[in-house]
Amino acid sequence: MWVRVLGSAAGGGFPQWNCGCPGCRAVRDGRRPTTARTQSSIAVSADRKRWVVINASPDVRQQFAAFPGMHPGDGRVTPLEAVLLTDAEIDHTLGLMLLREGRGVDLHCTAASHDVLRDGTGLLTALEKYCPVRWSEVVPGTPFSLGDCEFRAFDVPTAKHDRFGTGGDSGRVVGYRITDPDSGRSAVYLPGVQELTPSVRDELDGIDALFVDGTTWVDDEMIQLGLAQKTARDMGHLAVGGPGGSLELLSPLPIGRKVYVHVNNTNPMLLDDSPERGQVVDAGMEVAEDGLEVEV
Ligand SMILES: [Zn+2]
Ligand SMILES: [Zn+2]
Repeated sequence: MWVRVLGSAAGGGFPQWNCGCPGCRAVRDGRRPTTARTQSSIAVSADRKRWVVINASPDVRQQFAAFPGMHPGDGRVTPLEAVLLTDAEIDHTLGLMLLREGRGVDLHCTAASHDVLRDGTGLLTALEKYCPVRWSEVVPGTPFSLGDCEFRAFDVPTAKHDRFGTGGDSGRVVGYRITDPDSGRSAVYLPGVQELTPSVRDELDGIDALFVDGTTWVDDEMIQLGLAQKTARDMGHLAVGGPGGSLELLSPLPIGRKVYVHVNNTNPMLLDDSPERGQVVDAGMEVAEDGLEVEV
């Protein structure tokens, strides 16, 4: 199977419209080597004919345009099989509205995310006025098949503020373990993880590729830059660098490809010549760019 990174940046993209941090400035003025990135999403396919998209970012139109595999054939038949969600964050769901011209959206997400989309952001309520939405409930631990791949969600504990107060912790944030039944090979998509708990860590056993949360380099990155008062943990993310960071915890794992995605524009590892990028590469991990494709 194939995993294509449609967008590799966290919410806001790279550069973010209102941000003048060193990374965002570097994209605009070209003084440091780096590459612009769109907001977080991947596409998965076993046959390169039908693609399942995980998270529908606000940049989905640009992402599909840049990917010939997602272009429509005759008429308006498209290779988009379904949309899966890891949570109901705006940067992972706003793109649903941009899919409204289609023949309907096949949406797979947990009941918790569904509640937020209906009663919190209201995105689903609005989308249903434009096109049919066929919702399938994702239950963590219960596998399902789509486009010849098997998907299984797993709960990712989070302490992130429940903005809409829609309730329970189960299914608020999930990761996906994706398996190609023909080859037996598998990948995990985990764009938001606050702590590598034993249960989350167990999901990484025996996989061939990992696409994992690279939001910030240090926990108080936004505070240090004077941009926000929230730590990465407050936002449900484990920092990459330093003791106890994801680089230290994940780099020893025997996984063929270990790729950081969902990278915030403030993270210095986005700069190609930064010491932080050097540390990632030296540790055998990668920082995704948009369009990166991995054959798993
Ligand atoms: Zn996000
Ligand atoms: Zn920035």
